[in-house]
Amino acid sequence: MRFKYLGTAAAEGWPAMFCQCEACKKARKAGGKNIRTRSQAVVDDKLLIDFPADTYMHVLYQGLDLANIQHCLITHNHSDHLYPADIEMRGGVFAHLFPERCLTFYGTEGVGAQIKGTIEQVKFTENRRAAFQTITPFVPFAVDEYTVTPLRADHSAHSDPVIYIIEKGDKKLLYANDTGYFTEETWNYLEKNITGFDFVSLDCTCILIDCKRGHMGFDTCVTVKERLTDMGCANKNTTFCLHHFSHNGSLIYDELVPKALEKGFLVSYDGMTIDI
Ligand SMILES: [Zn+2]
Ligand SMILES: [Zn+2]
Ligand SMILES: [Zn+2]
Repeated sequence: MRFKYLGTAAAEGWPAMFCQCEACKKARKAGGKNIRTRSQAVVDDKLLIDFPADTYMHVLYQGLDLANIQHCLITHNHSDHLYPADIEMRGGVFAHLFPERCLTFYGTEGVGAQIKGTIEQVKFTENRRAAFQTITPFVPFAVDEYTVTPLRADHSAHSDPVIYIIEKGDKKLLYANDTGYFTEETWNYLEKNITGFDFVSLDCTCILIDCKRGHMGFDTCVTVKERLTDMGCANKNTTFCLHHFSHNGSLIYDELVPKALEKGFLVSYDGMTIDI
């Protein structure tokens, strides 16, 4: 599998839209990998994860071929992961598709409540350009050649959040944001069902702030890595990568890389590609 981070920031972006803090000033000055758009990723240029407002930026600047994407997993219904208004741009005179094809969104009921309205509003159900499929935590489902398993996340309950295991052949990855330290239900599922992830992407929103609920900071990510390793879900061949950063966590990319390396983590940046 080829995994690509298209965007790597939390809801406000980094530098944040309206912010004058030191971390945003530093990122603006340093540029490059320190500039982060809202979180989105794609597997093999086929399986999209999340649909934030910055999706269009990723089409323009990250080579995201959105017309050819037919499957999109949604983690939860916060606007930095699901921006339904842009689904309308797939309809009618806004898009010409040769041939016509359907983009299916997958999400929990809370995601469906937001997205189904948009799909019906622009009558996608008639021309089959978009569809929604409800998923259930801990119940695996097939998408093309992938097996996808949603696990319960520790995040705002209103957003009906999940994290995802994605498997193809003998390769498997865990995409885990937005979430705090995993729920015990999720730990139990992992312990019973998973040995040796090839790739693990962890929510590190709070970086230097000690944070365990809703999102994670660096220290909690270290604890999660240790527990996954102790349980056999990870081993020396597993690549761990930190992801989904907020300016409130202080350290820009250039500053976080050496600290992360000490504990065996890569640090994600917009456009980063990992071959799994
Ligand atoms: Zn988020
Ligand atoms: Zn800021
Ligand atoms: Zn969220």
